[in-house]
Amino acid sequence: MSQGVSNTLSLRNQRWTVLGAARSGLAAAELLAARGADVFVSDRAPEETMAEQKRVLEKLGIACEFGRHSEKVFECDAMVISPGIPSDAPVVRAAVAKGLSVISELELASRFCAAPIIAVTGTNGKTTTTVLIGELLRRVHDDVIVAGNIGLPFAKAVMRAPNAGYAVLEVSSFQLDHVETFHPHIAVITNITPDHLGRYGMDFDRYLASKQRICTNQGREDFVVFNADDEATLEAVGRCVEPATIGFSSSRVLTEGAFIRGDQLVLKVREREYEIVHRADLHVPGRHNVENVLAAATAAFLAGVPVGDIQQGCAAFRGVPHRMENVRTIDGVDYVNDSKATNVASVVVALESYARPIILIAGGEDKGSSYEPMRPLVKEKVKAMIVLGEAAPRIADAFQDVTRIVRVKDLGEAVRTARSLAVHGDVVLLSPACASFDMFDNFEHRGDVFREEVRALQPQKVEA
Ligand code: ADP
Repeated sequence: MSQGVSNTLSLRNQRWTVLGAARSGLAAAELLAARGADVFVSDRAPEETMAEQKRVLEKLGIACEFGRHSEKVFECDAMVISPGIPSDAPVVRAAVAKGLSVISELELASRFCAAPIIAVTGTNGKTTTTVLIGELLRRVHDDVIVAGNIGLPFAKAVMRAPNAGYAVLEVSSFQLDHVETFHPHIAVITNITPDHLGRYGMDFDRYLASKQRICTNQGREDFVVFNADDEATLEAVGRCVEPATIGFSSSRVLTEGAFIRGDQLVLKVREREYEIVHRADLHVPGRHNVENVLAAATAAFLAGVPVGDIQQGCAAFRGVPHRMENVRTIDGVDYVNDSKATNVASVVVALESYARPIILIAGGEDKGSSYEPMRPLVKEKVKAMIVLGEAAPRIADAFQDVTRIVRVKDLGEAVRTARSLAVHGDVVLLSPACASFDMFDNFEHRGDVFREEVRALQPQKVEA
């Protein structure tokens, strides 16, 4: 279980280049400098847009360049690349061709983390599962790192909490593309469905291989917790040779692992069964959240959290903002912010979660995936679909024969239109199936705007 790493490792006399000066690049540079390395940061974005990053780096005494990657980036012993830079970018290829070690910020930070690591990857459910595992571990450990793709870079977290008892990391496939020794004690794979295919040259196998890299360095004393209902996940897990594998299922009873029996979420490990929580007592909606809770409970159990704490923690969990977050009920209509649903699979689970008529607000920056998996549910449950953004024409085309389509210019108009169409008992659901960057800074910004627009609506009758 020991990660075989030191949190005092020195990098004195080593030269490192960091490509990309966004949040994770800056954290990597700071960690490298703190450990004595000679660091150079390079970002292609024009200097005018990077004033804040430049100021931070200069304050730390770290050399940097903006607007291009000069030859100086190769004058180093090793390189850290930021998640935004594709593995096949010319600068990365050139570095690899020169024999440089090219690693992700995740790999770098893990070399300085002496705490055991729980790493959560998958297409959907990572944040929710990571946050819940963190909450469960915090019931027994004073100092738990919850970091990664979740807002706080892992490199920053290891600097802040060098003596943490556990580290729970949300790990994207981008970060896993460049690991060498990264070794989680417990790896969690929530599910694997086509997403980010643009990045992988539309190759699902490459995407799968990238997710599977989470268990490459695991040994016999380690664990993989995986979605036993998901074929692609099963395939990825089949390639993990050393670690013990423990599945979870929201559809059938397993001989070992976590599952739901009747209304009861159950964990069965080493022939012993534990009742975790009644589904009706969960505050997070939908079958997908049952899966997230099963995954988190299993990981926490394997990390030594007592069952009583797992039971209480799961029942107390209130979910994460922008993931099927109930914003408000007006005139008997629920307004739900699922802005984080940036792919088709997460919209499918959102639609599955309701037995009531839905007015769906969708659209944004098109990711190129097929909308086909949504069709049966849209036909059955969506009484109107309000579409906006770059993807609006393609979504309208895909669904105009199964539901009513209304095109709008912005999210404010979308909310007001939804309001005019909704009747008591309906759900107005923002679950876009698209990225947000055509109209917003990010999905949080989109969700915040939705919330404000919903809060601005005036109830006709007394508010529920
Ligand atoms: P991630 O960090 O992997 O993007 P989140 O927990 O932030 O995952 O959830 C992203 C979106 O996917 C939300 O719309 C949420 O409702 C949906 N979702 C959450 N958990 C799952 C799951 N296990 N399977 C499918 N979709 C999920």
